[in-house]
Amino acid sequence: MSEDCLFCKIVEKSDPATLLYEDEQCVAIQDIFPKAPVHFLVIPRQHFSGALEVDGAREQLVGHLVAVAARLARENGVAEKGFRLVFNTNAHAGQTVFHLHLHLLGGQALGGMA
Ligand code: AMP
Ligand code: ZN
Repeated sequence: MSEDCLFCKIVEKSDPATLLYEDEQCVAIQDIFPKAPVHFLVIPRQHFSGALEVDGAREQLVGHLVAVAARLARENGVAEKGFRLVFNTNAHAGQTVFHLHLHLLGGQALGGMA
């Protein structure tokens, strides 16, 4: 738990969110400003700022986040046509919340990436 971290507060349920899934390692919520018809965030309960801090035991945790996102993609009907999983990291990627989170985007053609 990091004070003044929005996603810590959501994980702790002291701030509201539309909860889609939770287990002992992570929660999944609806993104409040969706950029696609399906836009979910898979958030570890443990606070760390982003992908640059993934090492050691966190490698397995991040694999779990991907597995949860894949399950949500299947359950929400976007698996077959396709979806995107994104970890925005620092300024050029537009990261705004510095508690690691995995974006799941789908439900429409998402456009190419450079
Ligand atoms: P990022 O830019 O990768 O740091 O992503 C942060 C995401 O969190 C953005 O897509 C925001 O729309 C989303 N977001 C911000 N505040 C909330 C909130 N209270 N509940 C759900 N999603 C949020
Ligand atoms: Zn946090």
